[in-house]
Amino acid sequence: MSATVPATAFARIGQLASQRPVHEAFGWLHLHEPQIMSWQRELVLVAAPPFGEGPRAEWLCAKFRELGLEDVALDGIGNAIGVYRGEQSGGECVLLSAHIDTVFPSDTLIDPQLNGTRLSAPGACDNGAGVVAMLAIAAALRHAEIRPACDLLFVGNVGEEGEGNLRGMRHFYQHAPWRERVAAHVVLDGAGHEVAVTHGLGSRRYLVTVNGPGGHSWTDAGRVNPVVVLSRAIARLGDLALPAKPRTTLNVGTIEGGTSVNAIPEQVTARFDARSTDAEQLIRLEVEIHRAVEDAVMEANAGAKREHALRFSIEMIGDRPAGTLTEHAAVFENLRAVDRHLGIRTETRIASTDANIPLSLGVPALSLGAGGNGGGIHTRNEWYDARGRVLGLRRILLLLLACAS
Ligand SMILES: [Zn+2]
Repeated sequence: MSATVPATAFARIGQLASQRPVHEAFGWLHLHEPQIMSWQRELVLVAAPPFGEGPRAEWLCAKFRELGLEDVALDGIGNAIGVYRGEQSGGECVLLSAHIDTVFPSDTLIDPQLNGTRLSAPGACDNGAGVVAMLAIAAALRHAEIRPACDLLFVGNVGEEGEGNLRGMRHFYQHAPWRERVAAHVVLDGAGHEVAVTHGLGSRRYLVTVNGPGGHSWTDAGRVNPVVVLSRAIARLGDLALPAKPRTTLNVGTIEGGTSVNAIPEQVTARFDARSTDAEQLIRLEVEIHRAVEDAVMEANAGAKREHALRFSIEMIGDRPAGTLTEHAAVFENLRAVDRHLGIRTETRIASTDANIPLSLGVPALSLGAGGNGGGIHTRNEWYDARGRVLGLRRILLLLLACAS
């Protein structure tokens, strides 16, 4: 990547990494891979389907307490929170989070198989890897008796995957007493040690419904047909010119309606998915969707009897706000310096993650992998391989300490 590493940031990381307690923390991470993997195996056995993360959150709270985090508790929506105290406690804090929910329904058979460094189980990588990385970092800090300048906040949050619609992070930034104090937020999601998500891809989803009187295809012919009318709106939206930069997309994912080939339908629905790296484009698309549907319905109603008029509704069924981390944010400069120190080539990405919420509020945030490798994400064949995990963990630890100093 092109962005430079300021000399001061690079020097600071070198100085940080040469401190004896940091070495001791690295040593703990290096020697305790079996411990970390045993946590990961335990974790995948506690099911955490969307909206059913309670047992896993309780499990995580117990682990946070064992590792000496303070003020451990569940918040109002079920996020597990614990504090690692810094020297100046109560001021700014650095937040480390990992989502605890999975995409798997509660009746999914979970029979984890551990072969050498490889754990096969639904959720082993996404986000077993991220959650146990938090535990490893907390354990290493405690073992080395590191006292960062400010508090480190550990959060295992609910509701990251699809239907969860980022509700765990949303709740934290709306209600947590901590929310005003977050100076930097590092999200851990899945495996890897090179990628950093620094652009939050925003998306909004809508369910559009058009209702009419319906009728018989022959005897009621001429009545307004909701399928035809919604199709006109969709055709108009399909002709919209969308910018390549900021990249913006609009998809019609489903269209459903009607009951029979010889009936005028009473109802039709369609689901839209709008995405952009720019929040304003999402607002523009929302206006376009309303305009296209409203115009098509009004046009159809102009020639219809009043009692046969069509009605429509547009419901937002998903909302992930967009946001971007600026190159000069301290957390980004620190990451580039840490990566240079560790010989890692930083790859930045655009994606939709928990970091969307802080980024949309102007809180510096990014999402990292928790080291190692993984695959089969969101399938029953998901796996995680811990080889190389320690490099990812060192990266996270140095970044946190750099941000907290
Ligand atoms: Zn994930």
